[in-house]
Amino acid sequence: MYSYGRKKGKVMRMTYKSTRDSTLRLSAAQVISRGISQEGGLFVPESLPQVGSQLAKLAGLDYQALATELFRLFLTDFSEQEVADCVKQAYTAKKFNGEPVKLVNLSGVPGNCSLLELWHGPTCAFKDMALQILPHFLTTSLKKSVADKEAVILVATSGDTGKAALEGFRDVPGTRVIVFYPQNGVSPMQKRQMATQEGGNVAVCAIEGNFDDAQSAVKRIFTDSAMNRVLDDHGLMFSSANSINWGRLLPQIVYYFYAYFQLCAAGKAALGDTVNVAVPTGNFGNILAAYYAREMGLPVGRLLCASNLNRVLTDFIRTGVYDRRREFYATTSPSMDILISSNLERLLYALSGEDSHRLAGWMDQLSEEGCYDVGEDVRQKIQRLFFGGSCDNAGTARTIRETWETAGYLCDTHTAVAVDVYRQYVEETGDGSTPTIIASTASPYKFAADVLSALEPLTGGDEYENIARLEALTGMQAPEQLRQLKDKPVRFQTAIENAQTAEYVLRTLGVSGG
Ligand SMILES: *Cc1c(COP(=O)(O)O)cnc(C)c1O
Repeated sequence: MYSYGRKKGKVMRMTYKSTRDSTLRLSAAQVISRGISQEGGLFVPESLPQVGSQLAKLAGLDYQALATELFRLFLTDFSEQEVADCVKQAYTAKKFNGEPVKLVNLSGVPGNCSLLELWHGPTCAFKDMALQILPHFLTTSLKKSVADKEAVILVATSGDTGKAALEGFRDVPGTRVIVFYPQNGVSPMQKRQMATQEGGNVAVCAIEGNFDDAQSAVKRIFTDSAMNRVLDDHGLMFSSANSINWGRLLPQIVYYFYAYFQLCAAGKAALGDTVNVAVPTGNFGNILAAYYAREMGLPVGRLLCASNLNRVLTDFIRTGVYDRRREFYATTSPSMDILISSNLERLLYALSGEDSHRLAGWMDQLSEEGCYDVGEDVRQKIQRLFFGGSCDNAGTARTIRETWETAGYLCDTHTAVAVDVYRQYVEETGDGSTPTIIASTASPYKFAADVLSALEPLTGGDEYENIARLEALTGMQAPEQLRQLKDKPVRFQTAIENAQTAEYVLRTLGVSGG
């Protein structure tokens, strides 16, 4: 661990290693270009920069300046100018309708909480916070590490990542994007957003099965040496825009700092006070970023991990046993319908004392038996840090209605899961006073049917009628980019079976499997 601050104007060099092979030492450009490590591990910083003594200084910065300061500590092989350029291009007022994130006080519900709205970007979900900047990180990284290769971004999506990746990478020179989504696992609005995507370097394909199937298929391709050789022969290389890519996680650390400072500026906490963070969780990326912020010195107490009916993480936090051998539910919060949370691997690496061997054993057990037990020591550490809770569809609908009626705030289905788990936390622990930041991850209009049906019976109209009805009820206009979808032509309708994924990739790229 080293302290924030520069010796002779320079930040200390940051290197990265893999969770499953800690002998590797790579630069930020290399890990962002590669996405995932060859042996299947995830890249993590060798140590986390400590900024706890610099909070007062960081608190005065606007979002772009704060992001630039924090990124520089991690991207030490980027020049200062390169980091600043990435930030400037990503978080424009035009793309985000002003400041990239907004903190909204939620009054009228029990406890002491604020919602951190992370969905003011182009696709109306929090994925934009990372995917608007990842293409800039990636193209800068590619120039440094593998000069003349074109990057093929493969994405498995439970709905929101796909659209955000398409929007972030569209027509970015030197990149192509292929998105796979589960045929029956995304909302009609999410499907429409992807099917109408514009851009000359994009492809979208539905696949049979659920999100885990899609994610496994994509991970298999990444680590398939024959596929990698074929791409190499054609001047191409795979990269990932899923939250297994370090370049996805890093941007998410920033908004927890920013929200904390906003809370202080609003007088709801004093600099140095402990706050809690609640996150509606799927692949464990967003909440992991909050954990990293905590480890860097942000005064965060408990991390509230909120799951829907697919409560594999709730059970894990409570028992120390991760068991994916259970029914998979398609819920009203589809972006959290996940039974294999990839980024948990990074947490377990940290909490096991960076024991790659032990970690690889758990991951092997997960793929072979569907289950592993982290043992007493790690379980205790997890429970000190995390509170796990889950909320089913009925609870989600009830929370949307109650939050609307008592606080005058309309949340989307994912955010509602976190609001309800915060309520459970207050009830179970009696801690209603610690200021809590709840991540609000999508616009309610993106899930209009389920949000509206929580307030009144549906009349059988389509998504656009549901949006119009919500607008009438709330007096708030839906984001322009959702309303416009109605008139956009559908470009992508292909659906394939899981086993055809590799073939589809080669066909789309116009290269042969040889
Ligand atoms: C992706 C997503 C989540 C889950 O985030 P993870 O980082 O995968 O845990 C929650 N809500 C929405 C709206 C999302 O798009």
